[in-house]
Amino acid sequence: MINSIEQLKEKLKLTEEELSWKESPQSLPVLITDYYFSLLDPKDPNDALRRQCVPTSAENREESLESSDPLAEVEHSPSKRFIHRYKNRIALLTTDICAQYCRHCFRRRFTGNFCGPLTEEDLKECCSYLEKHTEVKEILLTGGDVLTLSDSAIYHIVSSLREASPRLVIRICTRMVAVQPQRITDSLISVFKSFPEAPFYLMTQFNHVRELTDEAVKAVGKFIDAGIPAMNQSVLLRGVNDNADDLEELCNALVFNRIKPYYLFQGDLVTGTGTFRVPLERGLEIEKQLRERLSGLAMPLYAADLPDGGGKVPLCGSYIEGKDENGWIFRTLDGQKRIYPDPQI
Ligand code: SF4
Repeated sequence: MINSIEQLKEKLKLTEEELSWKESPQSLPVLITDYYFSLLDPKDPNDALRRQCVPTSAENREESLESSDPLAEVEHSPSKRFIHRYKNRIALLTTDICAQYCRHCFRRRFTGNFCGPLTEEDLKECCSYLEKHTEVKEILLTGGDVLTLSDSAIYHIVSSLREASPRLVIRICTRMVAVQPQRITDSLISVFKSFPEAPFYLMTQFNHVRELTDEAVKAVGKFIDAGIPAMNQSVLLRGVNDNADDLEELCNALVFNRIKPYYLFQGDLVTGTGTFRVPLERGLEIEKQLRERLSGLAMPLYAADLPDGGGKVPLCGSYIEGKDENGWIFRTLDGQKRIYPDPQI
């Protein structure tokens, strides 16, 4: 693995922007798996995969209205290790460690802080919260990346949570399949298989079709073959995937490999990630083009997580133009007009 700029210098001809990145106690550490590094085009300074893992001086800039926690996660944290922002689900920060640190990470206030896995006390706190809050129907095992934990630690977390709330839907949120697919061993899968009744969902983050290698597909396939559906959450990233051609290719490849494109996220207003954000107008144009080209199955929902904890909202153009005495007036994808009458009640 590569874990310093010095190591990167030995392997890549770094650009001025990359060389002038300033590391500080607040910055996200450098960590790139050997596997992911092998996917980079070392000759291309604008390589879509390189942008996601090699830091640049743009991370040292703070833009207006940015903050370390624009989604107000801290404010919605009953404990330091879980967030309860939506009534029916909580996010458990199982560890701050990831196999690789993404330069666009929206939780960089927590990620890579070297605070390590959650403690037994943290887990107990979460379990007793779940016992009291029966409105919580889903839990996101996140962080950091839950799959950096040992198989036995994952087993212990899952069994404790299921004991506290047996009907919980459990989302395994991970980028491991994209950055270190070798971690998905038969022994890891057997951990999840040992809870045959548990409704697990694998939530992946593939942002570019080149991340969907044979190894990555095989890794996700192990979950799917074990009865765990896979859903992908991409982030719309400038210089990585901010065009309809690349996203179309990614979404079709995901569906072909049994992974449902679920969300395409607009970048959050996180300090240091301004270089990745795509203007909303452009994002909406890409969404329109994707809607024209992709099947419903392959189409992700373009969405923004609104600042100050405003929650997620879908982003798309409206196809309703109004209503008259004949019914609702719609605009088709290719710009034609259609009337849909209301039923006679
Ligand atoms: S894997 Fe997730 S938590 Fe870790 S750095 Fe990437 S985006 Fe952040």
